[in-house]
Amino acid sequence: STLLSGRSAEFRRRALERTPGGVHSNVRLAGAQEFIERAKGAWLYGVDGRDYVDYLLGQGPNFLGHAPDRVIDAVFEACRDGVIFGGQHELEVRASELVCRAVGWADMIRFGVSGTEAVQGALRLARGVTGRTKVVRFEGHYHGWLDNVLTAPRDGAWTVASKGQLAGHLDDFIVLPWNDADQVADALERHGEQVAAVIMEPVMINTGVIEPLPKFLEAVRRLCDAHGVVLIFDEVISGFRLGLGGAAERYGVQPDLATYGKAIAGGFPVAALVGREGLMSRFGTGEVNHSGTFNGSVMATAAVAATVTSLLEDPPYERVTKHSKTLMVGLRDLGLEHDLPLRVEGIPAAFHVSFGEAEVRDYRTLQQLDLARYERLSRDLVRHGLWVAGRGVWYVSACHGEEELDAALTRFESALADGAGR
Ligand code: PMP
Repeated sequence: STLLSGRSAEFRRRALERTPGGVHSNVRLAGAQEFIERAKGAWLYGVDGRDYVDYLLGQGPNFLGHAPDRVIDAVFEACRDGVIFGGQHELEVRASELVCRAVGWADMIRFGVSGTEAVQGALRLARGVTGRTKVVRFEGHYHGWLDNVLTAPRDGAWTVASKGQLAGHLDDFIVLPWNDADQVADALERHGEQVAAVIMEPVMINTGVIEPLPKFLEAVRRLCDAHGVVLIFDEVISGFRLGLGGAAERYGVQPDLATYGKAIAGGFPVAALVGREGLMSRFGTGEVNHSGTFNGSVMATAAVAATVTSLLEDPPYERVTKHSKTLMVGLRDLGLEHDLPLRVEGIPAAFHVSFGEAEVRDYRTLQQLDLARYERLSRDLVRHGLWVAGRGVWYVSACHGEEELDAALTRFESALADGAGR
């Protein structure tokens, strides 16, 4: 941020006066601090006249590209007739039907505003229905910023990640390495009768992009069935991005509950909790509480309906895969040409760029990579017109085409030629 100049520097100075750290989400403390004036498709335009090919997608939501006309028009048109009623409206019904149809296995849905909240709804429902308290979760999986799910490693244990966070809220969580079914079996063997849920990102995207090993998800599914445990897939990132049915469809394993957010609404703040009727209906009887003033608002459901309709009518998944695969190969080749131990791996709609040699299968093995070196590279990439995050995850949208591919590779190469990544 010391390199900021022009209007960005001025806005940054003013932001720091009124907003702690100059940002409204701590996730963005470590991000690029250039101010953005507007965005369209796969491009961001800065306030100082620079443009960026966007591979961050607003941390994921802009899967249809920035400001997708169809979604923006639907939201504006719907909102002219009212934004929030304190009563039900037709768009809620349409959006609910569309999401359940797209997801495939889910019977019912509740909308919310953020992924964080959707996760809380899932955990409460699992506990409410089973009458149990403990939850099995996994190292390096992110499930939002609240007290009971935010955690970080310290001295070999997973503990609070923030001052002010109540450590006691983590007491009921059993944190295991991911991709190791024996550990899940062992935990359920020992604590099964107290375990309400197993929650995971079915493909790790927040921390590296790591796929489930063959048979891992199936094994966890079987173990949950055997112990009467609710299986929750946190598909806030993977949902609608890996395909209409998210990771559940890609890997062929169905959870009991799943959380969605980000790509579900073309950039608008919407999340959803979906699941089997036997579980979800317990919200409807009032036995388990789930509330929110803004849940199912006109804006939210218009955005979801337009986004899911667009994904159903014109599925972008093949385009996204093609762009992504070509880009991954291109980045790898540039790394080789410049003699850098660059690694690029993941699934097409999201991939991870890093340095190092380890064989990565979970959070611990990922730490053997030189993640700090990529973080330094990412700052140089932003300066060269590539909008990427420091943690190495790149997202590809439906709007990334040939032009963006050429620009991305040219800009990446010019950054490396300037010594970035050394
Ligand atoms: N779960 C997962 C898997 C996520 O990636 C995120 C956000 N990155 C969340 C939950 C929390 O969502 P939100 O930021 O919308 O609260």
